[in-house]
Amino acid sequence: MRKIAIYGKGGIGKSTTTQNTVAGLAEMGKKVMVVGCDPKADSTRLLLGGLVQKTVLDTLRDEGEDVELEDIMKTGYGNTSCTESGGPEPGVGCAGRGIITSINMLEQLGAYDDDKELDYAFYDVLGDVVCGGFAMPIRDGKAQEIYIVVSGEMMAMYAANNICKGIVKFADAGGVRLGGLICNSRKVDNEKEMIEQLASQLGTQMIHFVPRDNQVQRAEINRKTVIDFSPEHAQADEYRTLAKKINENEMFVVPKPLEIEELEKLLIDFGIAN
Ligand code: ADP
Ligand code: MG
Repeated sequence: MRKIAIYGKGGIGKSTTTQNTVAGLAEMGKKVMVVGCDPKADSTRLLLGGLVQKTVLDTLRDEGEDVELEDIMKTGYGNTSCTESGGPEPGVGCAGRGIITSINMLEQLGAYDDDKELDYAFYDVLGDVVCGGFAMPIRDGKAQEIYIVVSGEMMAMYAANNICKGIVKFADAGGVRLGGLICNSRKVDNEKEMIEQLASQLGTQMIHFVPRDNQVQRAEINRKTVIDFSPEHAQADEYRTLAKKINENEMFVVPKPLEIEELEKLLIDFGIAN
């Protein structure tokens, strides 16, 4: 089983890209589990057809410790297994606690056991926070493989670089490696070339350039992934390609984070900061 965590700046498209890629893997016949690690609990709604999944933390709160796997894991598109960690009310307690609780709970209840025949577990992690509970998937070997969703916007690149610093910190102990950058386009000038250059300087690859396309919104309003909503659409093929590239990926590295000056130079060189 490959355990993959998806990181990136808030709003960059982690949940959308994760679910669409997972749909592509499911279409290939892979058995996939998705664990939403964002207190917003919106990591699985496109796979579940809009069903608002009760989170692990809410389930524990309402039902005590006597929880069954079916209570926290629902079956979605293509026989995917979907879990939402949830989080406390804003401002109350550690928002990362949901992830720790969920992963431990899933392990205890046998979600990762061999009889589940999982090919992949995906963790859709909140924002660019690589401390506390949000680092959980990359600590202790919970996830071996990371993809960072990024665009040509400065703050997205800045966040990607920070996440790389987090990976470096946990690479020794947990063995986690970066599998690549996923460029989710914001239609910035020279975006593809710039992210390829960023990837190269980080010592990794841009594994795929996902175009910005309103079909994503059309599918979303229908509570579906693009692959489920419009299998013939060109954007569906983009996600299939990304799924295939991840499935075949063999480039796993400890990244080399950039100095802030190098990051700024990249933006200037590619004409963004003029
Ligand atoms: P995150 O999980 O990183 O916070 P989301 O996946 O929720 O971000 O994405 C935010 C919004 O961006 C979504 O509502 C989605 O409609 C839009 N979006 C993401 N990727 C694309 C894309 N490739 N083309 C068009 N819209 C996109
Ligand atoms: Mg999200």
